[in-house]
Formats: sequence, C-alpha cells, structure tokens
Amino acid sequence: MIRIGPAGNSSLFYEEGNKSSIEIPKFLHGKGLNAYEYQCGRGVRVREDFCKQLKEESEKYDIRLSLHAPYFINLASEDKEKLTKSIGHMEKSLVAAQAMGAKVIVVHPGAVKKGEPRGQSLARAKDFLYEALDKTKEFENISIGLETMGKVNQLGSLDEVLELCEVSKRLVPVIDFGHLHARDKGLLTSKEEFRKVLELIGSKLGAEKLRSLHAHFSPIEYTQGGEKKHRTFDEKEYGPRFEDLAPLIMEYNMSPVIISESADKQTEDAMLMMDIYTKVKGEMK
Ligand SMILES: [Zn+2]
Repeated sequence: MIRIGPAGNSSLFYEEGNKSSIEIPKFLHGKGLNAYEYQCGRGVRVREDFCKQLKEESEKYDIRLSLHAPYFINLASEDKEKLTKSIGHMEKSLVAAQAMGAKVIVVHPGAVKKGEPRGQSLARAKDFLYEALDKTKEFENISIGLETMGKVNQLGSLDEVLELCEVSKRLVPVIDFGHLHARDKGLLTSKEEFRKVLELIGSKLGAEKLRSLHAHFSPIEYTQGGEKKHRTFDEKEYGPRFEDLAPLIMEYNMSPVIISESADKQTEDAMLMMDIYTKVKGEMK
C-alpha cells in the first residue's frame, strides 16, 4: 500500500471553498489521497483542541499525518543556547504530533559551518541527537525524520542523513528526492539512479526502514549551490520524474508515504503521483 498527499494546503483547497485545515482530511479523501504533512516550519502554534479535531477527521477519512518541524532547528550549532532552543522546537513538534496522531516529525539537520570539514558539523549533530533523544524519551512512539537537503552548504546529503539515522531506531530518513536531485545537479534522471538510492537506504538502515520510507517528491530547479526553487509536474523541463520511482516502489515491495512539495500544486501533483502509481501497479500485476 502507498500513501500520497500534499505538504500543507495549496490554493486548490481554498478555491474549493475550504477555510480551516480541519477540513483537509475530507478534502484529500475526495481527491483519492491518503496522507498529509502539517506545516509548522515557522513555529509550532497549534491549539490542543485543533490537534484533537484534526486527529478525529484524519482517522475518519484514513489520512496518514506527519508534521514538519520548524526550520530554525540546527542540530550542528555550536551555540549552547541555540541547541536548547532546537530541543524546545523538537519537543513542541512532538507534543503536537502526538495530539494529532502524526507518526513522524520532519526535521532539517541544519547548516555546515563555513570553513569547517563537513565531518565536524556532522559529529556535533550526532552529539546533539543523543541528547535530544534522551530528553524526548516519552515520545518514542513518534519517529524523528531527518530530511535530505537541497543546498550543498546544508547538512543533509544522503550519506549524512543515513549516518545520522544510525544513532537510534527512533530516527528515520526523510528522503526528499527533489533535494537529492538538486544537490547533485540533476542526479536522478533514470530508474537506475533511484535504485541506487533505495539500495543504499536498505543496506545501511535495513529492509523495514526502506519499506516504510517517508519521502518528499517534487520537480526542482537548481544552480551550482543546489536547490533554487520547487517546481511542478506541469513544468516538464524540471526533474526528477515520479515515473522513474513508481515501478521500484512495487519491485521493492515498499509501503512508503510520499509527500508532494510542488510549488502551490501539492495537491494536484500528489494526485498525479497517485495516478502514475496506480497505472504502474496495474501493469506490473
Ligand atoms: Zn523540509
């Protein structure tokens, strides 16, 4: 089984007369979708009763929830005060995730310090994770997802994310395929390139973490430094293409959650991915 849905609410949601995110599960169900990533990138500001209602609606319409944690988190900071704040953001995200029944929070690993070998920033991020996991033990039923990032100066290459995930079972990779494509300047142009990514995840983290993978997918524009702008499937000049990944999801017997982050077309592009997957599944049976 696959789960596909949007990151946040695109224009379509409001154009169709919806107002509050409480209405999103019903809206997505009507579009044939079954996942949703709630956005807290600019801070966790949700009331408990809102979370409770969202949980009820999501259960009613069978929508799998995840929560994107604040962008200010930096696991590799050298500043003690900032690290304390990062733990605070993670805790708040976990509290909200638990209240809404989200299975995973998505975290950006942070920045590589200028002029420093990447390995040193990575080592600080690992130290931070040991501490953060210890302080958030009560939420061990919610996975902490570490996202692969699109800019070269950000911590979060595929290798770095997989290495960080080895710290604990509670850590899972969030593979943003658009970001991987941008970071390596157009890497993901064929099924075989996607296969290499899946093989690496499986060999480093095991079959179960590959099977239940949480991923982001959107076409992307990039420059020398990596990610420039998220695009849409309409804009055919931008990769990667979901057609290259869909057959592998079947071949590897995966049950992933795939979140569309296409620029204001998250819902439409999630629907396109669901169509592509359904077609491939029909052909491979
Ligand atoms: Zn993200």
